[in-house]
Amino acid sequence: MALWGERRLAGLASVDGSGYLFAVVAVVLALALRLALPDWLQGVQFITFFPAVILSAFVGGTSAGLLAIALSLLAAVAFILPADTLPAKALALSLFAAVSIANVAIVSALRRAAADVKQLNAVLQENGQVFRGLFEMAPDAAVVVDKTGTIVAANAQMEKVFGYRRGELERRPFDILVPPHLRDRHAQHFAGYAANPQPRPMGKNQHLFGLRKDGSEFPVEISLAPFVRGGWVLISAAIRDVSAHRQIEAELVAAREKAQVASLAKTDFLSSMSHELRTPLNAVLGFGQLLALDQDGTLTARQKGYVADILKAGEHLYELVNDVLDLAAIEAGGLKLFILPTLPLPVIRQALDFLAPLAAASQVVLDMAVPTAPPMLVLADERRLLQALLNLVSNAIKYNRAGGRVRVEVSLPAAGRLRILVADTGIGIPADRQAALFQPFERLGAAQSRVEGTGVGLVLTRRLVEAMGGTVGFDSIEGEGSRFWIDLPAEEAGTHSSRM
Ligand code: ADP
Repeated sequence: MALWGERRLAGLASVDGSGYLFAVVAVVLALALRLALPDWLQGVQFITFFPAVILSAFVGGTSAGLLAIALSLLAAVAFILPADTLPAKALALSLFAAVSIANVAIVSALRRAAADVKQLNAVLQENGQVFRGLFEMAPDAAVVVDKTGTIVAANAQMEKVFGYRRGELERRPFDILVPPHLRDRHAQHFAGYAANPQPRPMGKNQHLFGLRKDGSEFPVEISLAPFVRGGWVLISAAIRDVSAHRQIEAELVAAREKAQVASLAKTDFLSSMSHELRTPLNAVLGFGQLLALDQDGTLTARQKGYVADILKAGEHLYELVNDVLDLAAIEAGGLKLFILPTLPLPVIRQALDFLAPLAAASQVVLDMAVPTAPPMLVLADERRLLQALLNLVSNAIKYNRAGGRVRVEVSLPAAGRLRILVADTGIGIPADRQAALFQPFERLGAAQSRVEGTGVGLVLTRRLVEAMGGTVGFDSIEGEGSRFWIDLPAEEAGTHSSRM
């Protein structure tokens, strides 16, 4: 707008000296004409000055036109009035002046209007070029069609996507870009759209196709936007070739299906393996335990030692098999959890009771700190929560030292969360090994120690807790001890029972 206003001012100010010169010449010529006229034309004397005034205003501008009036009046006074000073002549003189001024005003308004139109044209042309540029540069192929479906304009991308030159598209029906078997459907859509044009994607939830000049079809996405003025409707369509997109989608679907099949096979394999592995192991352990009883009293001390070794190795294997099968079942999405509001304290006590003999044998003191806050319920599968706690507390005992401590603390770190923290005063985990925690079969060097383990406990604990909607965290200082914790969704015990 500012630009437009400035240009207009500049246009008015451009009346130059030649305009004034022209006004003087025009009036002098008119006077010469007037003097050359015979006396019998006296009655129309002032009219002879009009062409001079109009021409001056038209060619030279408003000020030159006004100069022309002034000169004409002077001439009239000098040449005509002294000869005859009748009031009628004075009236004619004033009428001449008034009509001349009106002429000058009209001519100057016309001049200004003409200049305005010229400026407006320039602006429109400039805007047109900007819009044309934007239309051309659009990253998608774009066409503009009228309400009969005839292509009015197409951009450069259209040539690339459809293989037509622009001249071959303009003034042709849009239908040439639609595969023949879809044209009827397209015509219906188009008629519906033209009746109620709104910006929107075309054929939502449908697969649309375009037709190239060489006859090949390809999937497209189309967005439509209307331009409506009075009875005039133009529709612009942005067309995107989504072949690559669809290809990736199809590959993803195929990969997902393949993975689902593989996952089903894995679950099947696991359930049959768990049977195949546990059954003979149960037999080994069962008969081993029978042997250990030595009801006939026939076993030598050495044989009893062998039997004890068989049982220990069998139990270790049994644990490993169970953990690995659980882990695999979680990964295959086949682990069934029974998540219910559960009181955590009895589960923690059960874990501590179960591990008390191990703690005693390792000369580690076990204790527990319970919050004074109201009792809470966690959302958990009780059996799996116990399994997770057994893993954390047994690690805290195993990777401890004689005379060390293990403390289980319950706290409420945030609204709706309950934390069970297991802190030990054990050997700790070196900072450079902490990143390898929670990796299956990763024992962080403990394999070389005398501490028994499989390297599956922590990863299984994390997966179990996450499957229950919780998280597992830890921190540790080498030589000082470690803290592992489980955060679970929780609510006050009273809240839940009152809702039930
Ligand atoms: P496992 O105890 O059967 O080896 P885990 O998965 O439970 O396997 O633990 C992995 C490794 O993390 C252990 O071998 C041990 O090196 C380390 N670790 C776990 N808990 C502790 C702890 N409380 N203190 C020190 N090291 C620990």
